[in-house]
Amino acid sequence: MTTAEALADRVRDGELRLHELGEEADADTAAAARRLLVEEQSGADLETVGDYAFPAEEAAGTNVENMIGAAQVPLGVAGPVQVNGDALEGERYLPLATTEGALVASINRGCSVINSAGGSTARVTASGMTRAPVFKVDDVAEAEALAEWVGDNEGRLAAAAESTTSHGELLGIATYVVGNSVFLRFRYDTKDAMGMNMATIATSEACNLIEEETDAALVALSGNLCSDKKPAAINAIEGRGRSVTADVTLPRETVVERLDTTPESIAEINTRKNHVGSAKAGSLGFNAHVANAVAAMFLATGQDEAQVVEGANAITTAEVTSDGDLYVSVSIASLEVGTVGGGTKLPTQAEGLDVLGIRGGGDPAGANADALAEAIATGALAGELSLLAALGSRHLSSAHADLGR
Ligand code: NAP
Repeated sequence: MTTAEALADRVRDGELRLHELGEEADADTAAAARRLLVEEQSGADLETVGDYAFPAEEAAGTNVENMIGAAQVPLGVAGPVQVNGDALEGERYLPLATTEGALVASINRGCSVINSAGGSTARVTASGMTRAPVFKVDDVAEAEALAEWVGDNEGRLAAAAESTTSHGELLGIATYVVGNSVFLRFRYDTKDAMGMNMATIATSEACNLIEEETDAALVALSGNLCSDKKPAAINAIEGRGRSVTADVTLPRETVVERLDTTPESIAEINTRKNHVGSAKAGSLGFNAHVANAVAAMFLATGQDEAQVVEGANAITTAEVTSDGDLYVSVSIASLEVGTVGGGTKLPTQAEGLDVLGIRGGGDPAGANADALAEAIATGALAGELSLLAALGSRHLSSAHADLGR
């Protein structure tokens, strides 16, 4: 049997490269050999990194290359919180993986006041994963001809794209022309998958048809107008993945007694901080810390963590109602989530989805990913409420001093 030491020796001798170890031994032994080499080179002790609880072969290859172990992140829960969604209805604990002290406590406090108002109302208001290839044409006349051809042939393009997937559906193609560059923003219903692989593979097939039938030349399958993992106004305006909103109206007594502040104070802080401050900063996110709930729930449920960039594209509103109560909402424009594919199938992440009761494909397809979006929006709403209240009652720095240090 090949040992980790023997494998590491073969790398030291130049006979094998790090990424070839998986072909010579099982995934655990290959990871152990890589740890030996990394320890030797860096002086690091990787005992904890090597103490992982999932089958290495499930991750190696499809989720990570050159695997040496796992980066374990503490997992907490907030709630249970009542979510009155379209896809998610009932009380749920929210799984949150984080190293930021005070975050789970803060979201938990928000959940508690949301419950006292009967729960959050949550809805996915738009849905569609995008991929936008860029084509080169001779000039703007040819660009116009390409746009016209795409408009006339959407049915054929949909058939080509959908031939690669049994779940994905092409919803539409938006054309953008810049000189002799033509961007086609394909938008898909990817059901319960976040859909980035699905949309990319499907779009590639559609691009083949375009190149066969027109004079346009594909320059890049992703032309950045998609726009994936970069802050981008197009996602804030057009949406990407799920556009989801959660809101709640808190009785004045709850705000005064439980949050130690007033509806007027929270509304003013929200306007001056989240709207005026964000506008002055040129921010795309008009919120206090939506990224915190998004990131922690992404890590807990196996989402692509780099897409927190788009998940932070959120607007928080707060206003005093005619009855003197407090209405608060969080609208996340581009929340890219899935309950199948990617990291969702790994055991700890799948257990995170189980906490919400939404592992795997939904019934109908897409319902579980919608439910996840509604749960994350509710977590974000709880976080916004709690932070705005902490600012209103001037408890923010003392809470962090007590819980985070
Ligand atoms: P995927 O794991 O590549 O595909 C999802 C799979 O689930 C599809 O094969 C689909 O089959 C199947 N499926 C089964 N039940 C389903 C259901 N109820 N709803 C939808 N699909 C269902 O995942 P993905 O979501 O497309 O892509 C996510 C991965 O892409 C992540 O690992 C992410 O890190 C990575 N990523 C890729 C790119 C890129 O450019 N390629 C960019 C960013 C991130 P059918 O398609 O046959 O129906």
